[in-house]
Amino acid sequence: MVRDFSELDLDAELLAALVEKGYTRPTDIQAKAIPAAMDGRDVLASAPTGTGKTAAFLLPMLQHLIDFPRRKPGPARVLVLTPTRELAMQVADEARTIAAHTDLKIFTITGGISYDEHAEVLGKTQDLVVATPGRLMEYIEAERFDCRAIECLILDEADRMLDMGFGPIVDRLSNECRWRRQTLLFSATLEGKGVSGFTKDLLKEPVRIDAEPPRRERKKIVQWYYRCDDMDHKLALLEHTLKNEAERSIIFIKTRERLAELRDKLAARHIDCCWLQGEMAQQARTNTIERFRDGKVNIMLATDVAARGIDLPDISHVINFDLPRTADVYLHRIGRTARAGKKGAAISLVEAHDQEMMERIGRYMKEPVKERFIEELKPKNKKPGFAVKKKKKKGMPGAARKAKKQAEKKA
Ligand code: ADP
Ligand code: MG
Repeated sequence: MVRDFSELDLDAELLAALVEKGYTRPTDIQAKAIPAAMDGRDVLASAPTGTGKTAAFLLPMLQHLIDFPRRKPGPARVLVLTPTRELAMQVADEARTIAAHTDLKIFTITGGISYDEHAEVLGKTQDLVVATPGRLMEYIEAERFDCRAIECLILDEADRMLDMGFGPIVDRLSNECRWRRQTLLFSATLEGKGVSGFTKDLLKEPVRIDAEPPRRERKKIVQWYYRCDDMDHKLALLEHTLKNEAERSIIFIKTRERLAELRDKLAARHIDCCWLQGEMAQQARTNTIERFRDGKVNIMLATDVAARGIDLPDISHVINFDLPRTADVYLHRIGRTARAGKKGAAISLVEAHDQEMMERIGRYMKEPVKERFIEELKPKNKKPGFAVKKKKKKGMPGAARKAKKQAEKKA
């Protein structure tokens, strides 16, 4: 097992940049994936969020570009596909810092950027391009982006790309890049329905790598839940947590509509927060992420879709205002805290109808999540048993409840 970056066959320029970034030793996924990728093998890798997958594929790719320098100016040689533009920007930033001491040219092609800005980029020599599938396909169809020089294709957050319906476009992009010599696929999980069928056509005899966080790493996340009687009680518990417990938190909410409601309620209580949701103008998203990163605001509201893949360092608390639909998503969410050896907490606010899901999550984590109480905010209702009685609840009409139940069954 590789314990030090210097044991990998990386050039001094790259190693120096890693030292500057404060990366002292490779993470599990990096130690496993980098040697395989540097051998020229296709790689099918899964590792939980926050375990350093980005550098795991960037390092071997940048080393390849250094080992085989281009002879003349021309189009991109390494293509990284990511599901969202934020993620594309993050991957490109990481690539630029790792490649800081090289001459390699790194660009992004994503939605939310004007065609004029891209026109300038597309005319230049590019070594590594990070792109979102939809926008890249538009350029290919307009014959403004040339895939024939692509030697390596990387799919980052492949599970998410499938969830977002990019499967067919990625297949087409893969075909456009059919002269490539290598493909790397990275995902938080490889369990989703589509992933195995999807990977078969993309990868050739891949090395399969599953990196699990060591158990002691997981232990650094303290998890518990509060039971809530109703929405007012839930809000009171949240307010108490935000004021007394949490330093920097991300709060997960099920839908955009509920996010807007919560935002207004927090504003009425003079609690400062920022938010991320789908269908937000690019500039607004970027501003939100920056304000949170810089510590100007310490509370971020987000839906799962909007928060996916975004690296927000130093989160002390993950708060599940709404429970996720699957235990797998729970694991993703809580993985956003306790990064890089820090401690973190994950708090769930559980209504009667969520109790069953909370138990399911405990089984999935192989350790039940414990209930805690706040003295002055104890729930009045009894803890429901497993057969949760269908009680008429305010605010959620019967049809909506039924739809939710069905969605849960499917998940
Ligand atoms: P993933 O893609 O697996 O979710 P990222 O690549 O976004 O994870 O990395 C998560 C965080 O860990 C980032 O802040 C990154 O800078 C940091 N990181 C990555 N590799 C290392 C390393 N070897 N040592 C220290 N920190 C690292
Ligand atoms: Mg990632």
